[in-house]
Amino acid sequence: MPSKARIVVVEDEPAIRRGVADALRFTGYDVAEAADGPTGLQEAQSGGVDLVLLDLMLPRIDGFQVLAELRRTCPTRPVIILTAKGGEDDRVRGLKMGADDYVVKPFSARELVARVEAVLRRTLKPLDDVNLVHLGRARIDLSRREIRWSDGERGDLSETEAAVLKYLVNHRDRAVTREELLGRVWGIGTAGLETRAVDMHVARLRAKLKDPTGRDSPEVIVTVRSHGYMAGPALTVPTKVK
Ligand code: CA
Repeated sequence: MPSKARIVVVEDEPAIRRGVADALRFTGYDVAEAADGPTGLQEAQSGGVDLVLLDLMLPRIDGFQVLAELRRTCPTRPVIILTAKGGEDDRVRGLKMGADDYVVKPFSARELVARVEAVLRRTLKPLDDVNLVHLGRARIDLSRREIRWSDGERGDLSETEAAVLKYLVNHRDRAVTREELLGRVWGIGTAGLETRAVDMHVARLRAKLKDPTGRDSPEVIVTVRSHGYMAGPALTVPTKVK
């Protein structure tokens, strides 16, 4: 690794904050600590931050508000929320707001470090330059934004549709939230109704990638309830990609 990944820990409970910070430093990360919402937000928004660990119950500004503001200013910054046991509503709400993952308190240092490493592995990884995707009888050329069916029929994708598809294919090992798509494909934060734009584009992609002969129409994009979307298993990338 060229430089240490930088992690911000926002947690008001001193014992937990220190425990987390020590475990991360011991693992080799560069760690900044914040004990309340406003300081946490300021730290989380600063340049060069690779990941934010965010407690939800915080003094002055709670974790949800910090997350909402962070998603507006830094839509792609990875966030893991730290939630209390039994707080399922909080976890769902946090994920819907675009958190990448959550850890339930009390957690062990090992569990936390494993979650941090998993999130960093996928967020620090540059996007593969996928240009060709296979789907049943279709070959989708993402750089030309063209669908070619085996019988010679053709279809086109808009730039945004191709970008959404490319993002889903690049992250086909997991579900992607609408907020993440907005942040990474459109480059904007989560402002209420705008997630409908994602649904609209997904609907159009599904329609365009439906086999025109009606023969076999594998599920192109799977809806993951209360989370977002995932590339269907039928979408594959040929191993030999230019
Ligand atoms: Ca707290």
